[in-house]
Amino acid sequence: MLLIARYVIPVSSPHIEDGAVLVKGNKIEDIGKADELRIKYPDEPIKDFGIAAIMPGFVDTHTHLEYSALRGLIYDVPYVEWKFQLTRKSQRFAYKDWMDSALLGALEAVRSGITTISDVTSTGASCYAAKAVGLRGLIYREVGTTARSEIPYVLQTAYRDVDNWRANSDPEMIEIGIAPYSLYSCHPYVLRELADYASDGTQVAIHLAGSKEENEFVKNGTTAIAHGADHQEYDADSFQSSTWLATGVSPVQYVLNWKILDVPNILAIHCTHVDDRDIATLADHDVAIAVCPRCDSKLGNGIAPIEKFLKAGIRVSIGTDSPAASDVTDPIDEMRLALLLQRATGTTHSDFITTSTAVNLSTLDAAKALRMDDKIGSLDVGKLADIIAIDLSNSHQLPTHDPTSAIVHTATQENILMTMVNGRILYDGKHVSSVDVQRIFERTEEMRVKLRN
Ligand SMILES: [Zn+2]
Repeated sequence: MLLIARYVIPVSSPHIEDGAVLVKGNKIEDIGKADELRIKYPDEPIKDFGIAAIMPGFVDTHTHLEYSALRGLIYDVPYVEWKFQLTRKSQRFAYKDWMDSALLGALEAVRSGITTISDVTSTGASCYAAKAVGLRGLIYREVGTTARSEIPYVLQTAYRDVDNWRANSDPEMIEIGIAPYSLYSCHPYVLRELADYASDGTQVAIHLAGSKEENEFVKNGTTAIAHGADHQEYDADSFQSSTWLATGVSPVQYVLNWKILDVPNILAIHCTHVDDRDIATLADHDVAIAVCPRCDSKLGNGIAPIEKFLKAGIRVSIGTDSPAASDVTDPIDEMRLALLLQRATGTTHSDFITTSTAVNLSTLDAAKALRMDDKIGSLDVGKLADIIAIDLSNSHQLPTHDPTSAIVHTATQENILMTMVNGRILYDGKHVSSVDVQRIFERTEEMRVKLRN
């Protein structure tokens, strides 16, 4: 199939005006000027998107699909209160709710031009949802406990899940990793055990340095997180709050002590509260970072210093995070916010992040963060056909001069014309063929009622 549009943005090279991409099977077979490819492949069926851009699909490096049906539930409160209210309310969800909630998330993802997710889950719902919709995924089994005595049991259960999820997934489409709980709800021995477990290359994701409360908890042991945890579900045999020994160091230096940064593949999520020493530590250990600007802004958790990460040579990327926090899973909106926040708070001209950098953070750099850039993240011959088309023909977009700038500054998830994963068109701008959308919407309404009161 020959995909044609006014612009083709390979990301790995400058954009092509009046370009085309040839897809054969699940791979990109050719790329170039539309006129030339039409002549070269006269028998190929053609899909012409007009005034639009064809580009690699978005690689969303931080999602929690299973929280999609908790969208809009808790709002106008800062992080700690949001977290505790969410934990309390989400206990009303049964297994099938988590599954259908993740399906809603996968549906939104594919409609938003996301072709790969990097998802943290306790239930495995995102494995099911990604498979059902046809997304590519790196799914991390979340594990942790505050009680030392429970560690062997929770780890064995998690490792068994990892094995089962691997056995039930197509390794070409879904990779399974592991993710420790947030530092304030995870005994440090869990980190040490996971460091051993993942020394074989198993991918690790860790929420790290994402709030001032986490920072103060690790450093001083006394914050709202500790007080909130006291009257939550955690019991007396735990390490935190009353028995937590203040470490006097930052979250990054704390996890360094527990060896988890030594694993070959690790993605740190958020990193809004890091100093220069922390950034050097993350760079030294080749830790990739997922920044989540919308979630971090909405919950009052600060701004990750993307420019500093890039200067330190860190593999940086953008994640949309949980819809329970960020409401929309829109990678274009997320890029725009990342760029605007950096520009608004930058102090020197060198802090002026470009639109092509922003697009990179959601495509090729994101693929690098997940160690998948040999297969996805750019439009290059031989790579897998994870491709999207974005409409640029609307009144708020015309005229276009530079497609990358037009996408970052004028487009939204509503402008996605096509999402193709592994050579399959999953979304054609109107329909998602792989799932019963009406049933998901009806289930969402049921879950809404369940969450009320
Ligand atoms: Zn998260």
